[in-house]
Amino acid sequence: MDELSATDRCVKCGLCLPHCPTFALTGNEADSPRGRISLMQWLEAGGEVSPGLRKHIDRCLQCGACEAMCPSRVPFGELMDSTRARLAKQGHGAPLSRLAARAGAALRGSPAALRLAGPVLDGYRRSGLASLLARLPGTAGRANRLLTRRENRPAPSPPSARRDSAPAGRLHLFPGCTGRALDRQALDDAQVLLGALGYEVTVPRNTVCCGAIDQHRGQPGRAAALAARNRAALDDNAPVVSIASGCAARLRDYDRLSGDEKQPFAPRVHEIMEFLARHGPGNLRFRAGAQPVGVHLPCTQRNALGAAHVVREVLAWIPGLEVRPVNPEGGCCGAAGTYLLEQPEIADSLGDAVAARAAGAGANVLLTTNIGCALHLAARLRAAGQDIILMHPVSLLRRMLLPER
Ligand code: SF4
Ligand code: SF4
Repeated sequence: MDELSATDRCVKCGLCLPHCPTFALTGNEADSPRGRISLMQWLEAGGEVSPGLRKHIDRCLQCGACEAMCPSRVPFGELMDSTRARLAKQGHGAPLSRLAARAGAALRGSPAALRLAGPVLDGYRRSGLASLLARLPGTAGRANRLLTRRENRPAPSPPSARRDSAPAGRLHLFPGCTGRALDRQALDDAQVLLGALGYEVTVPRNTVCCGAIDQHRGQPGRAAALAARNRAALDDNAPVVSIASGCAARLRDYDRLSGDEKQPFAPRVHEIMEFLARHGPGNLRFRAGAQPVGVHLPCTQRNALGAAHVVREVLAWIPGLEVRPVNPEGGCCGAAGTYLLEQPEIADSLGDAVAARAAGAGANVLLTTNIGCALHLAARLRAAGQDIILMHPVSLLRRMLLPER
């Protein structure tokens, strides 16, 4: 991308400013999309990288709200990725946090470690250590508080898989780096639903992290390596369905980032709710919903995938279910990949605002399609003393699924 001309597409109209969560919090132009574009232009012109400049660039959530509404079609996400890559090359952060970042990257790139992470984390939580260490101040305490979320309960009676006589086809359910360890229930529930629709579902053993974390942290080389490994692990023509909207958005970007036009990957990628909306409900029948549910729409579902509507469409399969949106006008919850650990003040302010709306919605279940948002919102709800269970919409659908007649 010619970055200078891309930033020059910004006509400084300011229409994006009311949509920017960080500008809404700080009121500082440098924390707005327009201000950040000016900082990028400063860097392009050879300007110095000051701590202040880094702070305002680091504070961006990469939520995509500005890009989604920009009349000049400024590719803000791409610009932010390349700006962070430029800053990362100049070194940043304490040696310990750089070491932790490298360890995290190694874990995200190892299929064996990701498969092991589930049982290891389960044991860690059961040991009580997570609850104990959650009381620590700083990043260690925050990370442990994310792990102590109340688990959503398994479905009471798993309906039999594959109801249709003719199999609908084969597909891969992409677990990302967190699915097996932190969203196992959603992964299981998605398999049951897709199986009930007649699909033969595999959860591939050798995929790795989708690469979104590395891409957004200014490590495009690491992100590209992860993308190449995922493409190799998914080298047939079967659809790739992601349970996390963040991973789906990233997987759909592989072609643009690799420039590989011979074997397009994006058309094979589906976020689970998009896939269900297109291929269901078939013969599936659901119990009526007696209780209202809150629904949070992640930025990746809304802005990156442009697929907010499918969540409501699929939830309408549950007769009489009352859906209460908790962020209907947009509004990032502050999770944003590793942002919830790196920018705790802003992350908590944004998370608390969404948690307060969820509490006001009067539902005891809150649905969201992205695991990072679920972990963060569960922690903010717990901090507010609210006993609201976070779950993926597929988990609710599975609970309401009626046995085959
Ligand atoms: S990014 Fe787009 S909406 Fe925002 S000031 Fe620039 S042109 Fe206007
Ligand atoms: S991506 Fe989100 S946080 Fe970053 S400038 Fe745009 S609206 Fe603001």
